[in-house]
Amino acid sequence: PAAGPLGRDHGYGPDIDHVLLSEEQIQDKITELAGQIAQDYAGREVLLVGVLKGAVLFMSDFARALQLPTQMEFMAVSSYGSATSSSGVVRILKDLDRDIADKHVLVLEDIIDSGLTLSWLLKNLGSRRPASLEVCTLLRKPDAVKVDVPVRYIGFDIPNEFVVGYGLDYAERYRDLPYIATLKPEVYSS
Ligand code: 5GP
Ligand code: MG
Ligand code: MG
Repeated sequence: PAAGPLGRDHGYGPDIDHVLLSEEQIQDKITELAGQIAQDYAGREVLLVGVLKGAVLFMSDFARALQLPTQMEFMAVSSYGSATSSSGVVRILKDLDRDIADKHVLVLEDIIDSGLTLSWLLKNLGSRRPASLEVCTLLRKPDAVKVDVPVRYIGFDIPNEFVVGYGLDYAERYRDLPYIATLKPEVYSS
């Protein structure tokens, strides 16, 4: 099918307000992050922990870019709150399949907003005695800067807007977009 004005829009074109980060910008950043992380973890085996579902696309591209032996685990958590903000009350929907004691754990996150979800997650994972525990997030919003959550690797600082695409959803839609965009206001009211 012909690409729309936004490139490959998966048919979502009419809902999209503007593209914040293009496919190329995202992939270039992943190459850069993977290069830095390969240096920092040289000689070690990394256990990537992806937080479902938002980090799935990031995990997939990042694992391929990282020139180190890596293993992959996934965790699914739900933070109670509205569709567009979180409360910090977290429930595990799917736990890791195995023990992470003595492993070098790198948590991959799609986005940090209030930081409440991540702060809870780090406490939880930290109690399992990994050899090391660091976070790599593709996106960070301004509020996250205020909270005291140690995030070693950050892809992009973005403005305080609700974004979708590249794993991020609104009502479970738009995760499959290859870029990150905002939605037209009418999408939220319909
Ligand atoms: P936090 O606990 O840091 O406030 O929220 C983290 C979670 O909230 C993310 O993993 C994501 O599910 C959701 N979230 C925060 N900001 C956005 C956003 O701009 N777009 C989307 N789709 N989800 C967001
Ligand atoms: Mg997340
Ligand atoms: Mg969501």
